[in-house]
Amino acid sequence: MTDLIGMGLLGGALPREACSRAACSADARWRIDWRNPRIHTGERFKTWLACDEHVDYLRDFLAAREFPLTVSALEDAS
Ligand SMILES: [Zn+2]
Repeated sequence: MTDLIGMGLLGGALPREACSRAACSADARWRIDWRNPRIHTGERFKTWLACDEHVDYLRDFLAAREFPLTVSALEDAS
């Protein structure tokens, strides 16, 4: 069950207020809540944060694996 998700992308760190994409330190503007049905049971979701540039990349990364995911804006402008 060790794959890209466990190894490189997030490095096991908890999400901070910065994009979860490797080598990107831009401020996060989106959150992606996702679940890997193979290793997560029940309602355990993981959360990635993404900047405007990488939200599509991260969403597509998960969608390509058919993981259930939800994308939502981190901050509602007023
Ligand atoms: Zn980014």
